[in-house]
Amino acid sequence: MDSIEQEREGWRKKAVEVARNVVAPRAAEIDAKGEFPWDIVDAFARNGFLSLLIPKEYGGMDADVTSFCIIAEEIAKYCASSSLLVIVQAVGTMPIVLCEDKALKDRFLPKISKEKALVCFCLTEPETGSDAAAIRTKALLKEDHYLINGRKCFITNGGVSDLYSVFALSDPTKKMEGITGFIIEKGTPGLSAGKVEDKMGIRGSNTTEVILDDVKVPTNQRIGEEGVGWWLMMRTLNRSRPAIGAQAVGLAQGALDHAIQYAREKGWDRGGDEALSGMPMLADMAVEIEAARALVYKSAAMMDEKMKGIPVQRFSAMAKYFASDVAMKVTTNVVQILDWRGLTKHHPAERMMRDAKVIQIFEGTNQIQRRVVSHTLLR
Ligand SMILES: Cc1cc2nc3c(=O)[nH]c(=O)nc-3n(C[C@H](O)[C@H](O)[C@H](O)COP(=O)(O)OP(=O)(O)OC[C@H]3O[C@@H](n4cnc5c(N)ncnc54)[C@H](O)[C@@H]3O)c2cc1C
Repeated sequence: MDSIEQEREGWRKKAVEVARNVVAPRAAEIDAKGEFPWDIVDAFARNGFLSLLIPKEYGGMDADVTSFCIIAEEIAKYCASSSLLVIVQAVGTMPIVLCEDKALKDRFLPKISKEKALVCFCLTEPETGSDAAAIRTKALLKEDHYLINGRKCFITNGGVSDLYSVFALSDPTKKMEGITGFIIEKGTPGLSAGKVEDKMGIRGSNTTEVILDDVKVPTNQRIGEEGVGWWLMMRTLNRSRPAIGAQAVGLAQGALDHAIQYAREKGWDRGGDEALSGMPMLADMAVEIEAARALVYKSAAMMDEKMKGIPVQRFSAMAKYFASDVAMKVTTNVVQILDWRGLTKHHPAERMMRDAKVIQIFEGTNQIQRRVVSHTLLR
């Protein structure tokens, strides 16, 4: 094994340990209560999962996208909400990592890596989800600061973050080229969290509105130059969509493992009617999960190898939608296999099926990912 492989296996070992010992015992409870798991945040921070993609020089783990995916997958086998915690932290952080403002990095990245600040990514608005280029939140330049006004919705960790990566229109005469990113600290006057969403799935994750009411943001908290926000967001999502795919693979694998355990207990290997219909289903699910896993890690490898001319956007979109569609299908089939057991709140399969539905929607719906793939094919 070369050193990169060793490093990745080190992350896997750590993730499996934390997932089994810290996450698994809490998964059902945080779902049932819709509770934000501060104890899991603490464990993730101690193990470096909340500063994964931050370079070493800023106190981060400098992990690659493949390791990021491995961690997201291993945790999601037990709890998709907790896996999202790792992913969103990276999504909120990436615009700062990717921008070219050294002073901004020096100031904010150590807050995330060393002071354990939580960070969220604020793009979606009530009128603009899929059409992200149509955001209406305005950032008006006033000498040494911007005045930001608008409303964001469905923001993961919107009510619990210390830092907010916010995207706003700094030039309303333009669309994509008019979008600029800002980093805003909790407690800044005019910044507040609104309604907390009571969701069907991923219930252990905090999802809220974020309200920006005349928020005064110094120009030195702008993420990169004016107008590069869209580019920063797209590059961020190219890195996070493989991880969302990995989260879906982990969820599907976790559900399949429950079905296998059930089949063993029922003695399917000795035959019977249930086994006759169930065994091919087990096989199909295993094949689909492996196919999704291969696509996810292929897209992650493309990001890590930074090879020019490779359509990373296409592959990260493919990974996200294929893996989350597989997770939806697998979790639905597992509930079917387990009959009434799978329908009860006592069995994790019921939660997993609800969680899978959410993954098909966030980080760009699967319909939008299909559009991305088809457009890049025609380009
Ligand atoms: C749990 C959760 C967490 C989230 N976390 C965050 C976060 O941290 N930060 C953030 O900024 N956002 C976040 N989101 C928002 C998420 O990214 C959006 O919900 C998503 O992009 C879809 O936008 P929308 O809900 O406005 O749906 P809409 O864009 O209104 O779409 C509604 C439906 O129409 C379809 N549709 C729309 N346009 C097209 C088209 N052109 N072609 C084909 N079909 C189309 C969509 O696929 C969808 O089925 C989160 C959402 C959820 C559910």
